[in-house]
Amino acid sequence: MIILKIGGSILTNKDSQSSEVDAASLKRIASEIKRSLDNSEKELIIVHGAGSFGHPPAKKHKIGEEFDKSQYPEKRLGFCEIQNEVKKLNMFICEAFIDEGIPAIAVPASGFITAADKRITEGDLDLFRRYLDKGFVPIIYGDVVLDDELEFCVISGDQLIQYLAKNLNPDVVVLGTDVDGVYNKNPKTHEDAIFFEKFSSLEDLDTLEGTTNVDVTGGMVGKIKELLSLADLGIESKIINAEVEDNIFKVLEDKEVKGTVISRGN
Ligand code: ADP
Repeated sequence: MIILKIGGSILTNKDSQSSEVDAASLKRIASEIKRSLDNSEKELIIVHGAGSFGHPPAKKHKIGEEFDKSQYPEKRLGFCEIQNEVKKLNMFICEAFIDEGIPAIAVPASGFITAADKRITEGDLDLFRRYLDKGFVPIIYGDVVLDDELEFCVISGDQLIQYLAKNLNPDVVVLGTDVDGVYNKNPKTHEDAIFFEKFSSLEDLDTLEGTTNVDVTGGMVGKIKELLSLADLGIESKIINAEVEDNIFKVLEDKEVKGTVISRGN
């Protein structure tokens, strides 16, 4: 079983305040996945981020922050707005995948997952198993869910990866993003950033700098924290650049791809 995350940075124009799909990138990725599915049989789960669809409304409505009871109706509507926005992105993705011939089936987190203080506490994954058994490719994505402490919260695609991997025990966990992997500092803003082939501790980072200013879910640091907690369970993962043509295909085929392996070992 392979769990593949495709970052919102690849699928959308994340700097944009409006919702925009990167159609060319989406089509290329869909065709790389299809090529690999045709090449060899495998169980595949796709997780995708919310990119420019989810982050601006999540920031606007401050979902995941404590609020006064009087604001409840407004927050609840904000929750609905975010759920609907990320669903739109998912629809574009599923459409591109189905057009390519991938049996993609959406399994939205808001439909079956709940959390407490922004961490997933419940979510029965039996349906994933059953879709996989029937040859579907289940797709889940960054979403809003009910939270026992905060009423509502955002669950990032990166936390979903962690939850799925912890509970489904996949053979391979891969995150495709818009950089080659983890550096000691943000490579987009620091030309001298040093690349890590292996990464095992947050202390290796020079700065705990986030990512784009519209991201409420933690950027690279958020990703690394989730993946290190997986590493603690003995589950290794790899961050690769999904903007590089054929990287997704190669990684699905277990071929060598530049990237950062996140594990606690040396
Ligand atoms: P995605 O939407 O693909 O999940 P994000 O935009 O949330 O990805 O995170 C990827 C971004 O994190 C990169 O584009 C990069 O600018 C930023 N980043 C910040 N710090 C680092 C770092 N130390 N190493 C690599 N990337 C970093």
